[in-house]
Formats: sequence, C-alpha cells, structure tokens
Amino acid sequence: MPTAPASLSVVARRYETGEPVRIEIAGGVIERVSPAWPGQSLAELPWVAPGLFDLQINGYGGVSFTSLTVTAEQVRQVIRGLARHGIAQLCPTLVTASHAELTHGLQAIDAACRADPLVAAMVPGIHLEGPWLSPEEGPRGAHPRQHIRPADWDEFQVLQQAAGGRICLTTIAPEVAGAVSFITRAVAAGVTVSLGHTAADGAQIEAAVVAGARLSTHLGNGCAVQMPRHPNPIWEQLGESRLTACVIADGHHLPPSVVRSLVRAKGTLHTVLTCDASGWAGCPAGRYQTPMGEIEISANGRIGVAGNPHLLAGSGATTEVCVQQAAWMGACTLPQAFEMASRNPARVLGFREYRLMPGDPAHLLLYRPGATAADPLQIVGTLVAGQWAHGGA
Ligand SMILES: [Zn+2]
Repeated sequence: MPTAPASLSVVARRYETGEPVRIEIAGGVIERVSPAWPGQSLAELPWVAPGLFDLQINGYGGVSFTSLTVTAEQVRQVIRGLARHGIAQLCPTLVTASHAELTHGLQAIDAACRADPLVAAMVPGIHLEGPWLSPEEGPRGAHPRQHIRPADWDEFQVLQQAAGGRICLTTIAPEVAGAVSFITRAVAAGVTVSLGHTAADGAQIEAAVVAGARLSTHLGNGCAVQMPRHPNPIWEQLGESRLTACVIADGHHLPPSVVRSLVRAKGTLHTVLTCDASGWAGCPAGRYQTPMGEIEISANGRIGVAGNPHLLAGSGATTEVCVQQAAWMGACTLPQAFEMASRNPARVLGFREYRLMPGDPAHLLLYRPGATAADPLQIVGTLVAGQWAHGGA
C-alpha cells in the first residue's frame, strides 16, 4: 500500500456548478468540501472533477500489456504516464492471445503494482478481454482467431494466479461453449463479467445475465458488420436493464447518433465511457506490426486493421478525449460525461464510487476548459488517493 499521503487541500471550481470550493484531503480520502473565496479571479482557478476511471486500456505509446516481452518497468511507465490524461484509476486490459502471452502480461502488471505504490493505487484491477470470444469474422474484431477458445474456468484460475488475484473484470461472448457455468463461477469469485465480441441471440444473452453478467463491452462495436435489423445482439443488450453499457466515444468507433442513442437508452447512470486505448495510442501515423497482425494509424488518430476498413484495433484516444467528445456529440452534459467515466465504472465493478464528497477516495482531476467550447480540456493535475500523479504543487 502507498505510504500515507500528507494532508493537502485544493481550491478549484466544481465540475457540475462552477462553484469555487476548498477540498481538504487526509489519509487519501476527502475530509471536507467547503465554499471558497479565492484571492484571485475565478477565471484563473482550475476546475475539479472526479479523477477518470477507465476500465479498458490496452497500453500506450507502443507498449501493449498483452505481450511476451513487456516488462514491469514498461507497465509502470505507461500507467504513471496515463495520469497526464486525468486518468486516476484504470484496468489495464489484456486481449485474446496465447496462454504464455497472457501469463507474461499479467505477471508484468502484478510486478509493476508490487514495485510501485502509486501504480498499485491506480490499478484497482485488471480486465481480461477474451480469449473466450466469438471466432466469427466481425464479432471477433481484431482478436486473433487462432487464440480464441471456449470458456475455460481452469485456465482462468491459472491466469488469475499469474495476475496476483488482480483480474476484476473479464469479457466473454455468451454463446461460447461453457459460458454460463464460467460466468456463474466468475461472479461467485468476485469477478465482474462483461459481454462482448459476440453474435449471441437473445436467449444466450438472457442466460448470461441470469448467471450474473452485468456489463456490455464497447456496445455497438465487436459485432457483425451486417446483421438482421432485429433481433440482434445490440438491441438485446441495449434493452436489457441489468446490463450497463460501455461506450467508446472517441469519434471513430461510433457515429454521434449512435452514442446519443446508447446513452439515452441506458441513461447516464448505466453508461460507462471508456477509451479502449490501443497499445499503439499516442504513436505517429503509419503501419505497425503487432501480435494481432498489421495495424494502421491514420493521420486523424484512427487505429484500424491494415487493409480492412471496417475493423478497428482499439482507439488512439485517451479517456479525457472521449469524455469531451461525448458532450460535444450531445449525448450528455460534460459533468455527466465525467461521472460516466469515474463513479459509474467504479460502482459497476464493485468499488466505492467517488464524486468529490467527504469520505470519498481522493481521486481528483484538475483541468482548464479551452478558450472556446471546441477546444480540448487541458489537464493540469491528477490526484490518486490524495497523491499527485500528475501536476500539483
Ligand atoms: Zn474489444
């Protein structure tokens, strides 16, 4: 665990109201939030929102967590670097790969958490997306077909051991052999189950939800390019009230009308914004060889499977970009977008939700809005459990 952070206070404008407040923090927790009368003009004050929580980040800057060679030091640097984007909490995500690659990546993340208390504080758990997914073209997306396999609880337990018990979320396609019994066991073990990369029918989705699945992984992506108008896996998950939807609002994965429709159908309490950043997010435009095959980064930041215009291979954006995009698209207000990328993922994964209230863990994001509404947010500080991970005094 991190050494007990010193007490500190932050004066900034609340993200929902613009009201200047003093937030007093001790022992990693918000102790008090009170009105502040700053000695400077309001325009000079930064704004404060809950630090972002992204439950699906695959790596950054050319480092992928799914790898036979990634080191604990690389993991540590990637995770610490994400604080520059306002990310206070994340689930490093591994995708479908050989057992050896998964084991190595999970061990590297566990070692990074054990080596660095700040990294441990930023990683409430790991997301294992696959390998128990649909092998069909379309639903499987960029996941390599040769490594997709049926649900295997025994393998999960071995992987969980490699991860030091840190896997808190797994994505499964409900139609794979053994899915229902796998979901039942995972939920009993305290692991949240999400549905994704699927061509399941309504009965299979219903059975998975009854077994305890509670999330849809990037709803609207990871499915067939063409499918019946209804029923289909998008409607079946959209209309299932027990499923919270994860949505990638990076501007490439979904058209704005779809993002608006998903958020309105699920409501802002049951939608999670995630960036699904690829390990190649942050890299210059070009073609790259990856374990998933060749990918192509366009000048506009889109990351696709080379030669296949319909398939994306994760996103080139980070969470704060998706938060602002969701608001720009008209899916929600900016304060709602912040909460869809902080308190919602924390709650749905069973962690304490936080939104700048006394007693909440002190995960904070300090930012300045752009000069115009179309300018990106400027992240000026990120606090993780009361410690500066980016910016600060
Ligand atoms: Zn995916």
